[in-house]
Amino acid sequence: AHLDRIEAVEGKVNAFLHVGRETALAQAAAVDAKIAAGEELGPLAGVPIAHKDVFTTRDMPTTCASKILEGWRPPYDATVTTRLREAGLVILGKTNMDEFAMGSSTENSAFGVTHNPWDLTRIPGGSSGGSSAAVAAFEAPLATGTDTGGSIRQPAAVTGLVGMKPTYGGSSRYGLVAFASSLDTPGPFARNVLDAALLHEAFSGHDPRDSTSIDAPVPGVVEAARQADVAGMRIGVVKEFTSGDGYQAGVLARFNETVELLESLGAKVVEISCAAFSYALPSYYLIAPSEASSNLARFDAMRYGLRVGDDGNHSAEEVMALTRAAGFGAEVKRRIILGTYALSSGYYDAYYGKAQQVRTLIARDFDAAFEQVDVLISPTTPTTAFPIGERADDPMAMYLADLCTIPSNMAGNAAISVPCGLADEDGLPVGFQIMAPTLADDRCYRVGAAVE
Ligand code: GLN
Repeated sequence: AHLDRIEAVEGKVNAFLHVGRETALAQAAAVDAKIAAGEELGPLAGVPIAHKDVFTTRDMPTTCASKILEGWRPPYDATVTTRLREAGLVILGKTNMDEFAMGSSTENSAFGVTHNPWDLTRIPGGSSGGSSAAVAAFEAPLATGTDTGGSIRQPAAVTGLVGMKPTYGGSSRYGLVAFASSLDTPGPFARNVLDAALLHEAFSGHDPRDSTSIDAPVPGVVEAARQADVAGMRIGVVKEFTSGDGYQAGVLARFNETVELLESLGAKVVEISCAAFSYALPSYYLIAPSEASSNLARFDAMRYGLRVGDDGNHSAEEVMALTRAAGFGAEVKRRIILGTYALSSGYYDAYYGKAQQVRTLIARDFDAAFEQVDVLISPTTPTTAFPIGERADDPMAMYLADLCTIPSNMAGNAAISVPCGLADEDGLPVGFQIMAPTLADDRCYRVGAAVE
């Protein structure tokens, strides 16, 4: 049914870069055979899923929506991919994204923009916009994403879904094509909090192949999603993210109503100031491009995918330059240049070093806040989904989409976005963000389930 749905709506939505009809049907048949044999299966066995094209898959292409990886077949599965398979999930295909996960709208894909199923003239968020659109368009009940600065929570917010960024190191980066290694975090998309928790549990947990993987049990996210109880919980509204220019009235209205709902359910709500959060965005746009400039050096025209100018008339250096010029899109080039500059001798201390200091201040703000409250809350995004093209030529306006989500990437703690209604002005979904301490991912689900 989902493969048929994909066939019916993909012409309008463009959520997938690759649909694996044959492999999906084979996986589904394998689950059927296990059921027939009386095997005991997990809760997600046989459930279809859309998989972001940033995770390696040995039976499907992996392009990160970049021309530079066109035609590349990974020789191995990412740990997240392996765990989806082990849980019996049926991988329908690979979803569109901003090239190398750099963006907030999926307009930076080399293979065409993805459309928001709520309004096809608008963006589905990004960078995991193919995943959010696939679930919102009922092409799949679940999807994977990665969140480096907001790329799960922001697309979930603007498509009316639940999207979770687990604690950094709680889900494995092995086989996830690196953007900014100290920030990249795989996580789930679903239509409700419990489904997200089940998927979170299915692919999370320690992985010896990822040196930053946390060797601790997965927090009890499924149980927390079932609890949905906030009585007696202390909740802090982030002062810096509930006022100021750029916040849409309809977003703030739904946010404030949800705060009242939580109070009526017995939560104690206070306002908390996290002053360093105001500097999260500029410091992120130094740290993430710096790491990207180093990570993307591996695309050297020799090891993967595209090779341009390899005709006997060009030196190896020229082939590398020609390949990168043709293979990388404008935003990826912008980030490589920005990151290389920020890391260069003479500028390192002023830019990269300073940004790392701000990162520490953000983590301290979280620590101080979590001494007073159990979770922090804010709108997920300042606005609802914006029209395709509106911010395409204005990187600064585009970067603002991740204003509220970036602090949790900088500090590495858990954060979720859950739907909290539609904005009056445009009838589009609004996201409510819940941030919890490191390894307290369960609190995100507990509060999220109460909001839902
Ligand atoms: N929009 C942010 C960026 O462009 C975050 C992307 C992400 O989380 N992958 O870097």
